[in-house]
Amino acid sequence: KYHNELVELKGNIRVFCRVRPTIKEDGAGPMSQMVVDYDKDDDGLIYVNNKGRQQTFEADKVFTPQSSQAEVFDEVQSLVTSCIDGFNVCIFAYGQTGSGKTYTMEGTRENPGINQRALIELFRSTKEKGRDWSFTITMSVMEIYNEAIRDLLSDDPGSKMEVKMSPEGGLYVPGLSVVQVRSVEDVNQMEVKMSPEGGLYVPGLSVVQVRSVEDVNQVFAVGQRSRATATTNMNEHSSRSHALLCITVTGICKTTNTKTTGKLNLVDLAGSERVSKSGADGARLKEAQNINKSLSCLGDVIHALRCKQNHVPYRNSKLTYLLQDSLGGQSKTLMIVQIAPVEKNLGESVCSLNFAQRVR
Ligand code: ADP
Ligand code: MG
Repeated sequence: KYHNELVELKGNIRVFCRVRPTIKEDGAGPMSQMVVDYDKDDDGLIYVNNKGRQQTFEADKVFTPQSSQAEVFDEVQSLVTSCIDGFNVCIFAYGQTGSGKTYTMEGTRENPGINQRALIELFRSTKEKGRDWSFTITMSVMEIYNEAIRDLLSDDPGSKMEVKMSPEGGLYVPGLSVVQVRSVEDVNQMEVKMSPEGGLYVPGLSVVQVRSVEDVNQVFAVGQRSRATATTNMNEHSSRSHALLCITVTGICKTTNTKTTGKLNLVDLAGSERVSKSGADGARLKEAQNINKSLSCLGDVIHALRCKQNHVPYRNSKLTYLLQDSLGGQSKTLMIVQIAPVEKNLGESVCSLNFAQRVR
């Protein structure tokens, strides 16, 4: 129902806004005052108290600090499962560092986010539809850092990946690891390695065998820790890189031989905060410029699609080039704009909401 509605009424682009609760890092005092308010009757409106002046912003749906992970997933579920019917889908989490992007996409062990819920739902729905259809689900995990794509499933994540055009016209990344997943248990392949003897293990940690969703969550947490040790500062690193979980669902109808392929791209974007030119050293400045460029390019692409412009500038960044076949055309895009709702984040929140208005 949702995706039909989407196509007919809104085009293929939707913008949600999610406001996280206040956290202890917000501190105390005047800078930790809440500056965001909602409309009792219209869940598509969000108000920002900008130094005493009220500014109104619109979204297709606003999630308040009280909204649960399950409530958020409820609103994206049909978008997620539309990839089973052959649609290409992108879900982006946008916002400054600390606004809740990773919470929304990855979530925590107790409160998993869209990534995990989407996989569980895809396994469930493909099974349900599985009478006449046979489905294959594959996934790859990538990161884009400083305009370079890194394969996070590869043994050599330092190797450079380039997007290529296949003779049939599709885009692909030569050498990219693609893992076939048959169950939620298989998702552990993201973090768990196969030993030469055939057993599963987490590098540097004890051997783990997984049989249930609970097990997977445990392994996710372990994997997270092992990934964090690979970088000197995981928080800083993740705020400067885009994390992509790309899932492909291929279905073949056993009776008619009809084939469908749909893609679901789940993207935890780099932090959108502006970096002051003073104080940043050369490398840091280049990083910041690359992030700016790819986020504004993403905005340009979605804006161009929204306005049905003839030229869509996909090639201006690695991110939009990589996702080209999942942006525009029959594809569906959801931007979740994350807000950290206190006074000290006012400037960035207004920027993020302006971004939301531009792509909507
Ligand atoms: P980002 O990825 O945008 O830098 P995080 O997702 O890491 O931000 O969120 C920052 C902090 O706020 C984390 O401790 C996270 O657990 C918490 N947080 C974010 N959103 C929520 C939420 N909706 N409910 C509870 N805690 C949240
Ligand atoms: Mg994050």
